[in-house]
Amino acid sequence: MSVTQQLARVRAELPEGVTLVAVSKTHPAELIREAYDAGQRIFGESRPQELREKYELLPKDIEWHMIGHLQTNKVKYIAPFVQLIHSVDSARLAEAIQTQAARCGRVIDILLEIHVAREQTKSGWDPAQLRDYLAANPFAQLPNLRVRGVMGIATNTDDETVIRSDFECLKRCFEELKPAFGGDFDTLSMGMSHDFRLAVACGSTMVRVGSLIFGERDYSK
Ligand SMILES: *Cc1c(COP(=O)(O)O)cnc(C)c1O
Repeated sequence: MSVTQQLARVRAELPEGVTLVAVSKTHPAELIREAYDAGQRIFGESRPQELREKYELLPKDIEWHMIGHLQTNKVKYIAPFVQLIHSVDSARLAEAIQTQAARCGRVIDILLEIHVAREQTKSGWDPAQLRDYLAANPFAQLPNLRVRGVMGIATNTDDETVIRSDFECLKRCFEELKPAFGGDFDTLSMGMSHDFRLAVACGSTMVRVGSLIFGERDYSK
């Protein structure tokens, strides 16, 4: 099936109010262009330089989201144009984004990435650590960041009970943090190709779908 067809199938499954981020990492600009021509405007990438290159090649009304782990020294590649950084997982990274956003004269939207998966390999705040960090009201010192919500990745398993409990945990964190941030805090980014339906059932407002739209990724290239 073509990208256009796959995209239409995913869209048809999303209720109104759930935003689709088409995850295009590793895929060439031509495939992104095809999705763009089919009406998709939000794309997610996980490597800053690759994101920057695609930004330069493709139409300027695309909203680029950074969804992968971000090193502080690479924020500069994306700060001038990125629409949403999903993967803010440390105080150092938040401070680095503040510095670069101020340099560009922008306010950058971010999500706090929370570690809920049973694997150690995934990044993100431990919920208790995040609570401690937020208790000091750090965003008062980071005026060029706007915290829009929470992002997380469920455990990589076929066991739906485990995936559901990860999503429920993210949803609880989201609801718990919301009062401190107010009306801009409206985004719960969870759900990927294999688990987005369950994520939506658990309250996701933004899904990040890659392989189901663009096909399997080839990291050897
Ligand atoms: C790659 C990636 C996705 C998309 O994964 P698929 O399984 O291809 O849908 C979603 N979120 C993050 C953080 C990713 O790195």
